[in-house]
Amino acid sequence: MVESSESVGVIGAGLVGALVALGLAKQGYSVTLYDLRSDPRTAKKTSLRSINLAVSERGIRALRYVDEEMAKRVLDGIIPMYGRMIHDLDGNQESQLYGLFGEAINSIDRKKLNQSLIEEIELFNSSAKSKIELIFEAKVTSVRVNGGVTIDYVRDGEPQRDHKDFVVGADGTYSVVRQSLQKLIRMNYSQEYIDMCYLEMYIPPGPNGSFRIDPNRLHIWPRKTFMLIALANQDGSFTSTFFGPWELVESLQQPKTIEFFFKKNFKDAIPLIGLDKIIECFTTYPRGALMQVNCSRYNFQDKCIIIGDAAHSMVPFYGQGMNCGFEDVRILLELLEKNGRDRQAAFDSYTETRAEDLKAILKLALRNYHEMSSDVTSSLYLFRKKLDGVLGRLMPQHWIPLYTMVSFRSDISYSDAVRFSQKQQRILKWAEWGAVGSILAGGALYLARRSK
Ligand code: FAD
Repeated sequence: MVESSESVGVIGAGLVGALVALGLAKQGYSVTLYDLRSDPRTAKKTSLRSINLAVSERGIRALRYVDEEMAKRVLDGIIPMYGRMIHDLDGNQESQLYGLFGEAINSIDRKKLNQSLIEEIELFNSSAKSKIELIFEAKVTSVRVNGGVTIDYVRDGEPQRDHKDFVVGADGTYSVVRQSLQKLIRMNYSQEYIDMCYLEMYIPPGPNGSFRIDPNRLHIWPRKTFMLIALANQDGSFTSTFFGPWELVESLQQPKTIEFFFKKNFKDAIPLIGLDKIIECFTTYPRGALMQVNCSRYNFQDKCIIIGDAAHSMVPFYGQGMNCGFEDVRILLELLEKNGRDRQAAFDSYTETRAEDLKAILKLALRNYHEMSSDVTSSLYLFRKKLDGVLGRLMPQHWIPLYTMVSFRSDISYSDAVRFSQKQQRILKWAEWGAVGSILAGGALYLARRSK
């Protein structure tokens, strides 16, 4: 525990900011949490994206690290997804399991999770001596380092200013804290939009809140350059997301064109979503852009550090953005605990150890689009996956499929997972060449014998 005189401003009360605020407060820091949104507990309509997310082992471990009981409460009602359900053009469904031993990723409502974390802060405040101060509708405009850190923000149209000992930036993809940090350090930084947009759709529940497709699978309609996915919600509905290139989505503007496109590509999704709703979605709903932000370093001295999407915004195809952000929180809290009062040692160590892992997961996330939208239908991919699975079951200590390492093994870092997987892939390739060689040799022997 640190003396409560050490004050921290956490910028951003999204998923990562709310969790780190709780974690820091539990370590004894005096925390103020700022967000430009209105308080989700009282706001009638929030601007939170109404999507559900897949929470997996890394995220769950971080929640438990902050507070075991809190984790139980916020994860209450998650829906396990044991594998993908692939929908082909004719509407046939094929299940592909994620884990070797019944592991699952879990569907959770983003809005509910964020709200639960803010409620946990309220609960913490009702029992702890030092409270987490929540300041909503506060748009932070800059952080400046002097003796401590000055936070400039605008609230009710009025400029305001607070002083803290240090700042944690968890203010998402377009982070203002990151921009301020870039003026202080030699930060390597890249931002890349990918040519892909997403549109959210909704599959309503069946009679009496029943699920109209299997809730324990992540449903995918893979169509190579575009795809549709669906994740279950607790009330029997599904949140469905269409991903496709901008040019394609922009060409789908006329009801007849949209109808033709869906009948051709997602026949079995039409009765689930409803043709009118699909047309409404393509013609009126907002479209989301997808981009990657990669940077390093993440801190300036012991004064400022960025985590979550502020430091590494990734495309959503590995379902790791939030999980990775939660893992940031656990690693940062562990380092603060380990380094006692030496915050600079903790922050420097975070930057040094985290960069390689973040780079690895950003790459994996991008690559996984091809796996989800295209590879899952290829016979060679399915054969390799089967072989990968067989080896993983036979030698669980020595052979672990990449998906398992990323999604179910928080004890293996992202970069180690990539290294380990590359080694395994090389072995699989040799085995394949070996098999091909044996077949060819057998064939040659057979022909030689016949020609005698
Ligand atoms: P955010 O959630 O963006 O929160 C940032 C907060 O900062 C917001 O509350 C914002 O209001 C506030 N803020 C911003 N600027 C300011 C400012 N100037 N002043 C004050 N406050 C500010 N991840 C997964 O792990 N699993 C998934 O299945 C998954 N699916 C996804 C699907 C889609 C379509 C998308 C787009 C993303 C998905 N992600 C998923 C990624 C996940 O949503 C993000 O990684 C996660 O929300 C990041 O959390 P964060 O708290 O860092 O940032």
